Amino acid sequence: MIAPPPQAEATQLISFQEENETFQATPATYAAWQKMKDTANQDGITLVLVSAFRSIARQQELVDAKRKKGIPDPDIFNVLARPGFSEHHTGRALDLHTPNSALLEEDFETTPAFEWMQQNAHSFGFKLSYPRNNPHGIIYEPWHWCFHPSQPSQ
Ligand SMILES: [Zn+2]
Repeated sequence: MIAPPPQAEATQLISFQEENETFQATPATYAAWQKMKDTANQDGITLVLVSAFRSIARQQELVDAKRKKGIPDPDIFNVLARPGFSEHHTGRALDLHTPNSALLEEDFETTPAFEWMQQNAHSFGFKLSYPRNNPHGIIYEPWHWCFHPSQPSQ
């Protein structure tokens, strides 16, 4: 298993409200997300944000909670990235959902929303981080997309 390179925690974040929840992301990620969501909407696709920025400290809490339940580390790190290695602390990773599909399940790949993302997300700078059999040892996460500002956006 090759660990993904550690990335720094976001220092510049903006807070925004969606579906009565408050999220945080980097300003560029937020702008790209809004543009992508609106464009999807025009195509009849509803993209719903489930989570965005999560601090390294919060990631550690999630790991600790699982350890307290007696779950062995290899099982924990199969579904949770090690603190500092989750892309969520960069403020550029988003977990997405679409109505009428299970929340954060592999099933998301069967939805029109996922098909739309596969065809269009790259134009907005978003990339699927954990495809099937990814080298990071993380389970396949069709819902997890990360904004890469160096990539061209339309
Ligand atoms: Zn995620």
